[in-house]
Amino acid sequence: MKKIYLVFASAITLFLIPFLSHADDHESTSMIKVLLVDGQNNHDWKKCSPVMIDTLQATGRFIVERAIVAKEEIADFKPDFGQYDVILSNYNGDPWLKETQHSFVQYIKGGGNLVVVHAADNSFPKWKEYNEMIGLGGWKGRNEKDGPYVYWKDGDIIRDHSKGRGGSHGRPWEYKVVVRENNHPITRGLPNEFLMVKEELYDRLRGPAINMTVLATALAEGGSERHEPVLMTIKYGKGRVFHTVMGHSHKSMGGVAFQETLIRGTEWAATGKVTFPSVSAAVLPVNRAAYRDIVDIKTLK
Ligand code: ZN
Repeated sequence: MKKIYLVFASAITLFLIPFLSHADDHESTSMIKVLLVDGQNNHDWKKCSPVMIDTLQATGRFIVERAIVAKEEIADFKPDFGQYDVILSNYNGDPWLKETQHSFVQYIKGGGNLVVVHAADNSFPKWKEYNEMIGLGGWKGRNEKDGPYVYWKDGDIIRDHSKGRGGSHGRPWEYKVVVRENNHPITRGLPNEFLMVKEELYDRLRGPAINMTVLATALAEGGSERHEPVLMTIKYGKGRVFHTVMGHSHKSMGGVAFQETLIRGTEWAATGKVTFPSVSAAVLPVNRAAYRDIVDIKTLK
């Protein structure tokens, strides 16, 4: 692997000081090591990944290394996944080498962990184990052969095996995220409803959806008109997976809804716990009138 970059923290806010103090109580070995994988994506990964790196590293809890896997790098992409507490995928591109796929599956099965952001769930439509890890995916020929649609309806999570394409979205808007499972470390303490910065909302995803818990949904207005999964966890072997469909652009990643759920989800995937203090209950925008005032976790004091 030619390109693994250690990325240094570039943003620390007053707001994060309590969390940093907490982190300082630990030995440096307690820092969570993250490998962010990108380099191919139909989204602007060059702008998006730095937002995620800054967001995580601003907490003082994470060290992020980055593997930029361009097409010409795939033959050399053979990381030692076991060095990392969690893999963060912003990758939607060509298949990895068979041996890399195998070592990745062994890593997750053995208790390695994964975070999948937005279009990373479009990736690898033919890689069975990957699709089991992410629970749901979209596009690239996905349809009923890949698994059910999953959505919330009248208090239940529905698995719908009807025929149809996997993956679509309506026009971007400030969609409302509704927590459906509030007794999970990722969502505990979050408000029951909050708004995402304007972006497209994935709908009609399909996949195996095995050992998957839907933590939050959003109504896909102008799309499927169903309450679609937004935040999910999946158990794969001994591994923990956090899947967020949020994060279409660096602008929407700049919002507190994306940033806090990314931090909480990544910490949970890596450790099974969330120590990051919930800021959302006080400041996450819960209606469109309040939305304009708070768009970036770095503005919080
Ligand atoms: Zn998108």
